[in-house]
Amino acid sequence: MITPYQKKLTKSEFKAVDIEKEIKCISSFPDEDYIKIIREVGFVCDFCGKCCTSEFNDHVFLLDDDAQKIIERIGREFLRPAPYFDLCDNLGRFYVMGYALKTKQNGDCIFFRDGRCEHYEIRPRICRIYPYMLHREPDEAGNFEFRQISGLDLHGSYHNEISHKSCKEILKSVKEYESGFQRQKLVFLKEIDKYFKDNNFRNSSQMYDRMMREFKKGKAIEVNVFFQGKFEKEIISKQINKHG
Ligand code: SF4
Repeated sequence: MITPYQKKLTKSEFKAVDIEKEIKCISSFPDEDYIKIIREVGFVCDFCGKCCTSEFNDHVFLLDDDAQKIIERIGREFLRPAPYFDLCDNLGRFYVMGYALKTKQNGDCIFFRDGRCEHYEIRPRICRIYPYMLHREPDEAGNFEFRQISGLDLHGSYHNEISHKSCKEILKSVKEYESGFQRQKLVFLKEIDKYFKDNNFRNSSQMYDRMMREFKKGKAIEVNVFFQGKFEKEIISKQINKHG
């Protein structure tokens, strides 16, 4: 049923309402339940490096502070607009909520060298909490439930003793990351809504598909990346989206 209030909302504002709910869900997820899961799984990273490869992960999304740190410490050239752009306007320009790390030709993370992270001390937040996570995903039956551990039993070492102090630190970092991700998305959606209204643009899925077909054929496209509260214009093509 659509309430009169919902009728006034635009498509992106609808999503904003959902995201606000999601942030509340994450912060209210019971600490003790999650600590129990962390204890039971007993995961410890054994530096196998699998999570840095395309076999395990498609891309490394960067929260704004991750991207800022990488720009300041090693350079902007390692960043690319996060793939799976969120929107395309009626003039064929894409918009996305943040940056990701570039990948190599084989899809592995650009920082992954000789089985190790080349910039481990400034690795992004998602790499620090991985494989722990706390976001909702549909299960096989399509019901939404929280996903807590990624790639269970496929990497690292399991059934280790994890102290209560470490469990609490993991929990805190996971909740901070997951709600930080949702907040970045929320600010992006609110800003894009205002930007489209001010400039009389509209979101066009037809244009999205058309431009993606052109992109796949090798044509350069414009992607506006939302970073530190502003849109940064990037011109990308398939060739420069990956490093050799
Ligand atoms: S930044 Fe480092 S830890 Fe993260 S995926 Fe890349 S190589 Fe792995």
